[in-house]
Amino acid sequence: MDIEGFRKAGYQAVDRICDYYYSLEKRPVLPPVQPGFLSKSIPDQAPEEGEEWVRIEDDYQNVIMPGITHWQHPNFYAYFPCNASFEGALADLHCAAISNPGFNWSCSPSVTELEILMMDWIAKMLGFNDDFLSTSSSGKGGGIILGSASEVTLTVAIAARERAISDLSRHFPPPNDDMRANGHSQGGEEERSPDQANARLADWRGKLTSKLVMYGTTQTHSVGAKAALILGLNFRALEVKAEDAYALRGETLKRAIEEDKAEGRLPFLLVASLGTTSSGAVDNLTEIAQVASLHPELWLHVDSAYAGVALSLPEEREASHLDAINGSFDSFSTNLHKWGLVQFDCSPLLVRDRGNLSRALTVTPEFLRTKEGDSGSVLDLRNLQIPLGRRFRSLKVWFVLRSYGLQGFRDHLRRTMSLSRVFESCLIQEPDFEIVAPPRWAMVVFRLNPASNGSGGGDVNGRSKTNEGLEKLNRELWEELEKRKSELLLTQTVLPEVGFCIRFVVGSPQTRENHVRQAWNVVYECGRKVLEGNGL
Ligand code: PLP
Repeated sequence: MDIEGFRKAGYQAVDRICDYYYSLEKRPVLPPVQPGFLSKSIPDQAPEEGEEWVRIEDDYQNVIMPGITHWQHPNFYAYFPCNASFEGALADLHCAAISNPGFNWSCSPSVTELEILMMDWIAKMLGFNDDFLSTSSSGKGGGIILGSASEVTLTVAIAARERAISDLSRHFPPPNDDMRANGHSQGGEEERSPDQANARLADWRGKLTSKLVMYGTTQTHSVGAKAALILGLNFRALEVKAEDAYALRGETLKRAIEEDKAEGRLPFLLVASLGTTSSGAVDNLTEIAQVASLHPELWLHVDSAYAGVALSLPEEREASHLDAINGSFDSFSTNLHKWGLVQFDCSPLLVRDRGNLSRALTVTPEFLRTKEGDSGSVLDLRNLQIPLGRRFRSLKVWFVLRSYGLQGFRDHLRRTMSLSRVFESCLIQEPDFEIVAPPRWAMVVFRLNPASNGSGGGDVNGRSKTNEGLEKLNRELWEELEKRKSELLLTQTVLPEVGFCIRFVVGSPQTRENHVRQAWNVVYECGRKVLEGNGL
């Protein structure tokens, strides 16, 4: 395709995208396709000769689109939203045009500098204090935009592990022959080869690492356990209770730390949640910070993949323990690509001390050295992350925040939260349904619980209304809702002490009150069908 061909094809693609948005509501949210459907329409190898663009673009519409789940559909209430904005789409288009991996400042100075500036915009928008800014008085704050909360958690775990090993090495010094490992033997009574010295060093690191314990809760997203799995670290999921709305309490953390230390282990990282996936639970960050103040070796990270953007609302900050984060936490991340109007992917990670990332992640072979990097006058973002190359994600943040303004951004959050309240009030008015966790932001978790509103008693299908009975009813409700997936999409989950239940999350800029009421009608109809089927 040449430049003029691109101009023509580009205009056509934009036209089709606009038509797509006009037609969204009429499309099935989940496509009615079966596994393997695509192999019937796509050859099993690339064509030998290039094809006409018109055919390719048409095939995208006719072959690929029928298998797309419409996350931007007004009736998408599943998982968490994955917002799209036209501003973000245009940023992605521009990024695609200048495609570059931006790992060093000199790879594209604007790419690095815009990211540093956008991280400060984000930190200020969310109400973080000076410590988390690149302009902090310590000169150490700031952060980086990564691709996912998983990548963030892994990166944080690597940095926390290095910090912990460095702290531990004061009490358990490394074998002092690492100089020889580098070929600088000073002689001495027991000469070792570099290989032997490296093996001793690896053994020493392995022993210290095996003492480290990383904490989350039973409600922490699997990103915590996955980071531990990848790094070969111990992960301990602390218990949380329904009566605490699934929040980690300070007392539970304190007990765990004491137990682990008594057993000779070193708790080094807590992945706390501000908005869990299953119920939107908020760990008690204030209590956690108090406990952690006695254990400064514990790195405190807040995973707020979904809810973090709500800190841009002043009215949300107190309930979200922002003071505790500002006062005591080491790192924080949210996914702007969920509820924050920025296209996938965009996971800013804010840290109080960038040095913890760069000390753990800097490896500079000759070919990556630059004059500016060597002089220390620039920040090379590759040193704060796992991959070398990186996407130019800050452009979409810049486009979105400028075009919406902070007011527009907050309006989007408040509007979708108020739509969630509409669904919540429908649930409250219907005694056969029960809200099973405190509704948070734009999320409500509910289940069928016939005519009791959660107080127990009653009968399910002739049996006493046991957990088992409720489990059966709600799994049946889920089956009914599965049949309606072209009309609306929800997600199921399991909560401790509750069991099987259903999540409803609003976040699409496309959703209006009539959609939410229509969604409630479907849920209600499915609920009635299940109850009647069970003679209730
Ligand atoms: N943390 C929480 C609280 C989440 O809800 C999610 C995903 O929904 C994640 C982490 C994982 O996000 P990612 O896909 O960016 O790794």
